[in-house]
Amino acid sequence: MSFVRGLKCHSCGREYPISPVYVCETCFGPLEVDYNYDALAESLNRDTFAAGPKGMWRYRDLLPFSGKEPIDIGAGFTPLIRAENLGRDLGISNLYIKNDAVNPTWSFKDRVVSVAMSQAREFGFPVMGCASTGNLAASVAAHAARAGLPCYVLIPADLEKGKVVNASIYGPNLVMVRGNYDDVNRLCVEIADRYGWAFVNINMRPYYSEGSKTLAYEVAEQLGWQTPDHVVVPIAGGSLLTKIRKGFEELERLNMVDEVHCQVHGAQARGCSPVVQAFEEGRDEIRPVKPDTIVRSLAIGNPADGYLALQTIRRTGGQAVAVSDQEVVEAISLLARTEGVFTETAGGVTVGVLKKLAQQGAFKPGQTVVAYITGNGLKTLEAVEGLSPEQVIIAPSLKAFRQVYEGSLATASA
Ligand SMILES: *Cc1c(COP(=O)(O)O)cnc(C)c1O
Ligand SMILES: [Zn+2]
Repeated sequence: MSFVRGLKCHSCGREYPISPVYVCETCFGPLEVDYNYDALAESLNRDTFAAGPKGMWRYRDLLPFSGKEPIDIGAGFTPLIRAENLGRDLGISNLYIKNDAVNPTWSFKDRVVSVAMSQAREFGFPVMGCASTGNLAASVAAHAARAGLPCYVLIPADLEKGKVVNASIYGPNLVMVRGNYDDVNRLCVEIADRYGWAFVNINMRPYYSEGSKTLAYEVAEQLGWQTPDHVVVPIAGGSLLTKIRKGFEELERLNMVDEVHCQVHGAQARGCSPVVQAFEEGRDEIRPVKPDTIVRSLAIGNPADGYLALQTIRRTGGQAVAVSDQEVVEAISLLARTEGVFTETAGGVTVGVLKKLAQQGAFKPGQTVVAYITGNGLKTLEAVEGLSPEQVIIAPSLKAFRQVYEGSLATASA
C-alpha cells in the first residue's frame, strides 16, 4: 500500500498526479511529494521501522516509490558517532557525527539516487542521467550498473581526479563538459527535454530530494527517537538541508518524536556561498555567484533549492555560515585526528562551520548537536596532500628504525 497522494506545488499548492513533472505549470514553483499523513499515522510506529531492513528502505512508507523492488545498492544505516574528542576540542558537550561518507559510493548521494532511479524505472524512462559536481555521477553510474540501465553522467571537465575515476569505474557514458556545474546543469535540462531521459536531479527532482529525508529519520532513530537541538548541514543545491528538517517534522506529525525544536544551520564555502550571502545581507532572493573554491562538491552557484534552504534556516532560528578554503583543510584534518573520520572537502566545510558556531556560542551546554559528514576523504586527496609530514623511508633493519625513531620511542614507552 502506498501513502503517496501525489505531487503538490510548494508555492501555490496546485496538485499533480505522480508523474515525471518537476515544476508547477501555473507558477513555476518546485513540486513536492504529498503524503496521506493520517493513514501513515494509523499504520506506522517506531517498531515498524525497527523491523524493516537495515538500510534506508526501512523508511519506505515515507518515500515516493510505487514499484515492488527499489534499486538498492545498500545505502543508509550509516554510523552516528558520539564525538567526544572533537566535542572537547570545540567546547560542545553533546556532539555527534553522522558519518554518511561510508555509503556504497562514498557519499550521501546514494540515498537520493536510489529513490529517484527506482521511480524513474517505474515511469519507464529508457536512459538515466545527471548533472553532477562529482559525487552524484558516481552514485548514478553505480545504481545504473546494478539495474542494468544505460546512463549518461555529465560533469565539469576539471573535477578532482578521485571523483572522475570513482564515477567512470562503473562504466557509464561519462561526459566531461568544458564549463562549471551551472553550465553542465543547463545543458542537462536541454538533453532531458530533447531525448526524454530521466535526469535524477532535474526532471526527477521531487523524488530525488525525498531521499534526503532518510538522513533525518536515521538520526532520530539512532538517538532513541529524539530530534537533535542543532544540526549542521552543507549546502550545494539546498535540498539536503531542506529535507532533513522536513523529515524531523514528519516524525513529529506521526507522533514518533516529541515537538521538534531543531535549529538548522547551513554551511558553505566562502568561494561559493550564495545562501550565506543572502542570509548575511537579510535578503530573500538568492543571487547566483561564480564558484571559486576547492570545495567542488558544493560548487553550485545557482542553487535550485537555495531559497527553500534559506527559509528553513531562518524559520528554525539557525544560521548560514561560510568558511575559507584554508579553514576547510584544517577542519578535515581536525576531524580525522580527533575522531578517525576522513571526509572530503564538503565535510571540511561542515566541521569548519561547526567550529565557528561553537565559538559564537550558538550551542548551549547539554544541547545535542549533529554534524552531517556527507562525503569521503579519498575523493579529494589533493586538498590535503600538502598536510602530510615529510615521509621517511628506512632500510628494513632494527638499526635503521632506531636511528630515526629513537627519540619518539623514548617518550612512547615512558
Ligand atoms: C551534493 C552534496 C551535498 C549537498 O547536497 P544538496 O542537496 O545539493 O544541497 C553535500 N555534501 C556532499 C558531499 C554532496 O555531494
Ligand atoms: Zn504553483
